[in-house]
Amino acid sequence: MPKLLIATNNQGKLAELRELLADVPVELVTLRDAGIDTVVEETGATFAENAALKAEQVATLSGLWTLADDSGLEVDALGGAPGVYTARYGAPAAVTDRDRYEYLLRNLAAVPWAGRTARFRAVVALAAPGRSAQTVEGVFEGRIAFAPHGQGGFGYDPVFYVPSHHGHLAELPADLKNRISHRGRAIEAAHPLLVQLFSDSPPL
Ligand code: IMP
Repeated sequence: MPKLLIATNNQGKLAELRELLADVPVELVTLRDAGIDTVVEETGATFAENAALKAEQVATLSGLWTLADDSGLEVDALGGAPGVYTARYGAPAAVTDRDRYEYLLRNLAAVPWAGRTARFRAVVALAAPGRSAQTVEGVFEGRIAFAPHGQGGFGYDPVFYVPSHHGHLAELPADLKNRISHRGRAIEAAHPLLVQLFSDSPPL
């Protein structure tokens, strides 16, 4: 089976991507499997730039087709922040996922429900060694809750309320989250390309 390197060390994302790519005839390889411990600096101004940067650098280092994603949270009351800084939001004081979402809740303490609109955005980039990445995007609309709820998921899931499902992301079953989330939608958009790449003829 052809191999596809998933350029993330985030176990939550890796688990989601494994489920989302279960029907693509490809062997998923992790950064650790490929012996790559280089951290790609996320210097881009957009999720697309960062995802492409990661996919292209890791593809070149590994010699494998590589899928990278970059994602984050855009909160309207904060002018779209934390955006590409979502993973580092509240640093250096905020260290854990919980520190980060608690920092977010403090910053939104005075914002009423109507003003708490937000979205997760994910860009998935696919690159072959030495070639430019192709990117696709998925968006997931919701609101920032007043307090955390639920035990599932990762990151900001406990404080992300999903109006269409009347619950917080950390309360929804994983397979449901995967279908409706920003990453699920981005992978869905990438799906025809992945099937074409890996079903018809072995890449590279
Ligand atoms: P990245 O690894 O640079 O894409 O960082 C993304 C940031 O957004 C991290 O802080 C994640 O915790 C957060 N994030 C991305 N996707 C999700 C999600 O599905 N649920 C909760 N947090 C997420």
